Amino acid sequence: MDFAGRVLAWFDRHGRRDLPWQRDPSPYRVWVSEIMLQQTQVSTVIPYFERFMARFPTIGDLADAEVDEVMALWSGLGYYARGRNLHRSARLVRDDCGGRFPLTLAEVQALPGVGRSTAGAILSLAAGQRQPILDGNVKRVLSRHRAIAGWPGQTQVLARLWGLAEALTPVRRPGDYNQAMMDLGAILCTRTRPGCERCPVANDCLALAEGRIDAYPGRRPRQVLPRRVIQFLLLRNQRGEWLLERRPPAGIWGGLWSLPECGEDEEPDEWCRTRLGYPVRLVEKLHPRRHSFSHFELEMRPVRLAPVGQLALVAEGDNPAWYRYTTLMDLGLPAPILRLLRDMGDEDLEGIGPSSELSI
Ligand code: SF4
Repeated sequence: MDFAGRVLAWFDRHGRRDLPWQRDPSPYRVWVSEIMLQQTQVSTVIPYFERFMARFPTIGDLADAEVDEVMALWSGLGYYARGRNLHRSARLVRDDCGGRFPLTLAEVQALPGVGRSTAGAILSLAAGQRQPILDGNVKRVLSRHRAIAGWPGQTQVLARLWGLAEALTPVRRPGDYNQAMMDLGAILCTRTRPGCERCPVANDCLALAEGRIDAYPGRRPRQVLPRRVIQFLLLRNQRGEWLLERRPPAGIWGGLWSLPECGEDEEPDEWCRTRLGYPVRLVEKLHPRRHSFSHFELEMRPVRLAPVGQLALVAEGDNPAWYRYTTLMDLGLPAPILRLLRDMGDEDLEGIGPSSELSI
């Protein structure tokens, strides 16, 4: 039996067929699931996907929603550009494609946040088209099975893997085959301790024959990530509300609400006075926290500030603005910021006067 035949026979007995997006696998549902699954595990994605579909059952519902509501449902999944891209794409489909999800590779790949593999997954799983995929799981299976040396991030290695993926994708049941390859990588051909004894393609797997499974896929050349230090300002007003700023649309946590921040060499109280016009005093510099992004390490230095005298409130819709802790979940804050605020509890209400001191 050929490679695809063996993979499909294994899938029919052991593959995953009860995932939420496999019920009614419309292009819209598969697209949302594929975007959520980029960089995130299936078990984490499932509750997010179900909440998302309950709120936005159609692409039109997603397009008509405000981006803040979309980001609130995305909060905690990370890689927030994915959520913003979904929303932008939904509006493109609504405005330029008459609300119907496109069904050609070129059109699907043109949507923000959709690469060749994601487009292939959508079109094969939801529309039965013969389109290859090459996500992390498939790269691992193929590079081991054919002993393809080198890091898949290198152009030549990637081109070989795409060539192989294309050649192996069958005409019959391409969607099932792609799902089977993703499952094979997730269930058997795992990063560590793969279950080769149960693998349907073990008898001609070159990495297994060489006894060098760990050598494939090749590792990314070592790279020390640059470190960025940012001070995050924790300031509450007399009503116990947090001061938040909406971040610019581009860059990390783009478009999300977050704490005001200043550089490591700036004096946070002085910065707050001159930049935001709030008279404050420095209460305490808290223990730094770390957060890793794909391209740099963020050292978060939280700084507690307390108001001095009166603090001006701002009108609703302004930026920055004051928010109650209980409303933060609806705003879609980045998870590290939400954790920081949660950890703060109510202890920094110290030094805050009665709300009658507020001036608006
Ligand atoms: S035999 Fe082992 S290494 Fe080879 S494809 Fe199967 S699970 Fe992966």
